[in-house]
Amino acid sequence: MAVFEHDVLVIGGGLAGMRAAIEAARNGADVAIISKLHPMRSHSGAAQGGINAALGEDDSWETHAFDTVKGSDYLADQDAAEILAREAPNDIVELERMGTTFNRDEQGRIALRPFGGAGFPRACFIGDITGQAILHVVFEQVLKLSVTIYEEYYCTSLIVDDGVVRGAVALHLVAGNLVPIQGKAVIMATGGLGRVYQPTTNGIACTGDGMAIAYRAGAPLQDMEFMQFHPTTLKDSGVLMTEGARGEGAYLLNSAGERFMAKYAPEKLELASRDVVSRAEQTEIEEGRGVDGCVLLDVRHLGEARINERLWQIRELAIDLANTDIVHEPVKVRPGAHYAMGGIKTNVDGASPLAGLFAAGECANVSVHGANRLGGNSLLETVVFGRRAGQAAARYARETPARPPLSEAVVQRDQEFIETVMERAGSAGGDGDRPAAIRHELGEMMRADVGIFRTGERLAAALGKVAELQERYQRVRLHDTGKVFNIDLVSLFELSFMLDIAHTMVAGALAREESRGAHTRRDFPDRDDERWLKHTLAYCTPEGPRLEYAPVTIMRWQPEVRTY
Ligand SMILES: Cc1cc2nc3c(=O)[nH]c(=O)nc-3n(C[C@H](O)[C@H](O)[C@H](O)COP(=O)(O)OP(=O)(O)OC[C@H]3O[C@@H](n4cnc5c(N)ncnc54)[C@H](O)[C@@H]3O)c2cc1C
Repeated sequence: MAVFEHDVLVIGGGLAGMRAAIEAARNGADVAIISKLHPMRSHSGAAQGGINAALGEDDSWETHAFDTVKGSDYLADQDAAEILAREAPNDIVELERMGTTFNRDEQGRIALRPFGGAGFPRACFIGDITGQAILHVVFEQVLKLSVTIYEEYYCTSLIVDDGVVRGAVALHLVAGNLVPIQGKAVIMATGGLGRVYQPTTNGIACTGDGMAIAYRAGAPLQDMEFMQFHPTTLKDSGVLMTEGARGEGAYLLNSAGERFMAKYAPEKLELASRDVVSRAEQTEIEEGRGVDGCVLLDVRHLGEARINERLWQIRELAIDLANTDIVHEPVKVRPGAHYAMGGIKTNVDGASPLAGLFAAGECANVSVHGANRLGGNSLLETVVFGRRAGQAAARYARETPARPPLSEAVVQRDQEFIETVMERAGSAGGDGDRPAAIRHELGEMMRADVGIFRTGERLAAALGKVAELQERYQRVRLHDTGKVFNIDLVSLFELSFMLDIAHTMVAGALAREESRGAHTRRDFPDRDDERWLKHTLAYCTPEGPRLEYAPVTIMRWQPEVRTY
C-alpha cells in the first residue's frame, strides 16, 4: 500500500483550505490538499454578497471589530475579532493583486455595499458571485505553487499516534480503496454542516465531515448550538437570496405590505443582524402576517438596470426556482438554515488543542462569530485565518522531527466498517433503512425542534430522536456494493458524521438555558451573562458529547444590551 507523505496536509479545497495551502507553500512546506470535490466545486463558490474590510473613509478596523463583537452577542473572542478586522484590508488588497475583479465605485476604488449589523458599508463584492470569483483566483495560485491535489479523495478519519495527529485516511473515490496520507501538520478546512437541516442554503456536500472527524479524534467542538438562519431563502428549495439585496436597499414586507422591521429594529430596519431579522420574520409568519408561510423581499424600486448590474444571479435564481422575476414582483422568502457558528476550537493561529491538528474556515471556531455571524465575515475568516493557519502549520511541520512511517494498520478501522456495510448489503432480508431516509428525518427534525425558536421540551425530544436515528444507523443498508465512485458509501460516512454533529448541537442547545444571538429559548428568553457568557466545548465519548465550558476573551468591549 502506497503511503503518501507531505509536510502539511490540508483537508478541504474551498477558500479556507486553498488559502491555507498557499501560505504553507509560501513558507517552504511541501503541501497537499485532499478534497472530496474538485476545488472549484467547493461551496465557497456559492457565496454571493461580499467580503468585509473596513476600507471606507469613515470606517475603521476598530468599528469593524466592534460590530463583529456586538453581532456575536458578545460571545466572540475579542482578540480574534480584532485580528479579523485589522488584517482584513491587507487580505483584500492581496486578493485583488491575485486578480480578483472587485466592483468599483465612481472614483475607481473598490466599491462597498452595506450589510446587516455593520456601522458602515463594508462588503467588497463582485456582483452577487463574490465567492465564485475569489475561488477562481485562489485556485490559480494553488496551481502556480504546484500544491499536490488529491481530488475526489474522501477523508474518513484522522490518524492519531500517541496523542499527535499524523495524517488522514482517505477513500479514493475513483478506485474505491482507502489510502493513508501522512502529514506532519494537518489543517482541517472542510466547510459547513448545513445539510444537517432540511432545507438549507448549503450544497449537498456540506455535511460537517471535518468537524465530526476531528471530534472523534479527540478535538473539542466549540459553540455548536449556534446555527445561523438566514432571513432570505426561497421557500421550497432553501436557495439563498443574498443579503446584498437588502444591502442594495431591498424591503421586507408582510401580508399587509408593511415594512415590518420598523417594529423590531427601528434604526437598522432590514439591515439589522441576521438573528434579529430572522426572528422578526418568523414572528410575523407565526402571528398570521405572512404570505404562504413566507414574507416578501421587494427590490422593484431598485430598477432593472441596477438589479441586472448587481443582483443578476438572484434574479435568475428567483425566475428559475420560484417562478418570480424580482424586477416586476416581490419574491417569497423565509428564514433558512445557513451557517454554523460552531466548529473545531482553535487559537488565533488555527491550532486546535489536539497536537498537529489545525483548522480554518467554516469548520473551525476561532471564535469570531460567537452566537451570530455578520454577513461578509465568513469569506473574510477563510482568507485571514486560512492564511494564519497555513503559516502556523508550516512552522509546526518544520519544527517537528521526522517519525517512523505509518503502518498499514491505520486504515484498518475504516476498512472493517466498509466490509461490514458491504456484507450487510449483500445479505438477504434485514430491515435496515436507506441512508437517505435517516438523513431526511434528521433534517426535518432539526428544522422543527432545533430551529429559530427552541424550548427545553422540544430539544429533549430532539435528543431522543438523534439517539433513535443513531440506533437505526447501525442497521442502515447500502444498495451500491461497487468500488468505483460509490456515492452510496460516501453518503453513509456523511450520515454518521451528521448524526454525531447533530448530537453536539442538540446537547449544547439543551444545556444553554438562555437566549443569545441565534440561540433563542422561549423558556429562557433573556441573555444571561452571569451564567452563560462562556463557550461550550463538546468532547466525544462513547456515550455522546461531554460538555465543558471555557471563558470568553473580553478586551475592549464589555457586554451591553444589543439593539439595532
Ligand atoms: C449560499 C451561500 C452564500 C454565502 N454568501 C456569503 C457571502 O456573501 N459572504 C460571506 O462572507 N460568506 C458567505 N457565505 C458563507 C461562506 O461562503 C462559507 O462559510 C465559506 O465559503 C466556507 O468556506 P470553507 O473553505 O470553510 O468551506 P467550503 O468552501 O465549503 O469548502 C469545503 C471543502 O472541504 C472539502 N471536504 C469536505 N468534506 C470532506 C471530506 N470528508 N474529505 C475531503 N474533502 C472534504 C470539500 O470538497 C470542499 O473542497 C455563504 C454561504 C452560502 C451557503
